[in-house]
Amino acid sequence: MKRVTLLGATGSVGQNAVDLIGRNPDAYDVVALTGGRNLAQLVADAIRLKADVAVTCHEDAYAELKDLLAGTGVAVAAGAEAIREAALRPADWTLSAIVGAAGLVPGMAALSHGATLALANKESLVTAGPLLMQTADEHQATILPVDSEHSAVFQALVGEDIAAVERVIITASGGAFRDWPLERLATATAAQASQHPNWDMGQRITIDSASMFNKAMELIETKEFFGVSSEMIEVLVHRESLVHAMVGFHDGALMAHVGPPDMRHAIGYALHWPDRQHLPVERLNLAQVGSLTFDAPDDTRYPALALAKRVMEEGGLSGAVFNAAKEAALDAFVAGEIGFLEMAQVVSDTLDALSSDEGLQNIAMTLDNVLETDALARIRAKEVINRLG
Ligand code: NAD
Ligand code: MG
Repeated sequence: MKRVTLLGATGSVGQNAVDLIGRNPDAYDVVALTGGRNLAQLVADAIRLKADVAVTCHEDAYAELKDLLAGTGVAVAAGAEAIREAALRPADWTLSAIVGAAGLVPGMAALSHGATLALANKESLVTAGPLLMQTADEHQATILPVDSEHSAVFQALVGEDIAAVERVIITASGGAFRDWPLERLATATAAQASQHPNWDMGQRITIDSASMFNKAMELIETKEFFGVSSEMIEVLVHRESLVHAMVGFHDGALMAHVGPPDMRHAIGYALHWPDRQHLPVERLNLAQVGSLTFDAPDDTRYPALALAKRVMEEGGLSGAVFNAAKEAALDAFVAGEIGFLEMAQVVSDTLDALSSDEGLQNIAMTLDNVLETDALARIRAKEVINRLG
């Protein structure tokens, strides 16, 4: 039996993983499930999948979770440290589907037992890519991508020599506002940004899709995960969200990965890798789809993409600043403190402030330094937000 842990089990990606594992419960020994405030979901899944332990990241929810699981045989824990401890429990396969930089420490913990980390949490690669990859190497652990674009690239590279790769193209739907006139974007609300045209995802990534910050993070994620240079990575707007990524080789071949917008494909691929097993996803009928469209992204509409290029070129801790400032800007946008277009301003100004003041390039990438830089960037971002608001 495969021992599995799902970090962020109650979220959008986590629930897709629960669905796959729940269809074949005898094949899995569920070690830990973690979540946040949605205790009812956490409890139901922990009982159904017979988890050893259920953990909420909120310390103040401990007593309630303990009550709900009393007499079930499922152990209970709460708080950020308890999530890290859950990730330290030996497992063969750990899904990191926590949202935000909070995924970094538990992801590092999971790598320390040298097993497989299926990584949906893109923020950990953006924040500390080199550290994560180095930690995996040190412990002979495997990181498998679960973000759909990166799973697509990974699959297109099976049996190929990375040296033969000329370019990597990841696609973007264009998000909720792709057809809005530019002038209207300044007035966009969080509720409007939370409606994705093609994918059903958590609120934060959905808003990041509207601003293209999600694609910006995925550019950085591509560079860190596959070790390709920033000039080799491109974004194409593809409204249908059926081609997830393409890999171009030296001989001119372009290998595309095509599939329905259903995260169970990427999760299932990582779960069964290196094999392929039957997955309950829709089979595409391309005759019915008819046509697939591709457009170059408009840099004025999506300033996040230029910020990602800057981070890829600067390297080092600039990714930690970028991600923390983006998270702070997103919180401020959701709270109505800043406008939709000001999110990119916050990230840009925070990067400016920290790269000149702190000499980010000269700071070594240790976990402590990353966490310190993340905290500092949130303070700087808050100053920019207060100035704008
Ligand atoms: P979500 O908001 O639906 O779920 C997040 C999960 O993380 C929940 O279980 C929540 O309880 C938990 N969580 C939140 N804050 C936490 C904290 N501080 N400490 C520990 N746990 C915490 O998010 P999602 O859409 O499932 O996305 C999860 C991750 O996967 C993100 O990094 C996202 O960018 C990435 N991703 C998501 C999709 C998708 O289809 N939703 C696709 C590709 C990548
Ligand atoms: Mg993606």
